Amino acid sequence: MKNITTWRPDTCGCVLQYEWDTEVPAEERTHTMHSISKCPAHAHLPDHEAFMEATEENKHKNILKDEIMNHNPHLRETVVNEQGEEVVQYKKGHDPDVLFDSERNIDVRKKRKDLEIILPDESLVQSRLEQAMSDMKYKVDGVQYDATFKSQKGKSTRIKLQK
Ligand SMILES: [Zn+2]
Repeated sequence: MKNITTWRPDTCGCVLQYEWDTEVPAEERTHTMHSISKCPAHAHLPDHEAFMEATEENKHKNILKDEIMNHNPHLRETVVNEQGEEVVQYKKGHDPDVLFDSERNIDVRKKRKDLEIILPDESLVQSRLEQAMSDMKYKVDGVQYDATFKSQKGKSTRIKLQK
């Protein structure tokens, strides 16, 4: 059965709708663009490009936040969740804000000025992003995307850390 999911990424104001087949196992599923309502940051792009950029930017933010946690032991703690499993998470107030600036470059901001943050290697973040984009297949206007969209377009995202 075809299912339509509405998704509002927290990295921009776009509203994305994608279609997927409930009978296909999760790891083989293709997410097909159904519709998009574009935010001001992505309004200048054709629908299919805005869809891919908004998706990729959100994954990029999530992966970068995860790698910053991996690279900065002083920012994290291990807690036991309700299921009795140990999970690693940011200590309260130690997670940086990962935002996109007007040129859609990543702007990492500390919630507390006294916390030192070391950024992970960009190639590491990039390879995880490529993996995440190829694990989740996207089909937009009949074209299947199985690599990072921005790099296919010859673009790259710079990451800057506010001191
Ligand atoms: Zn957007």
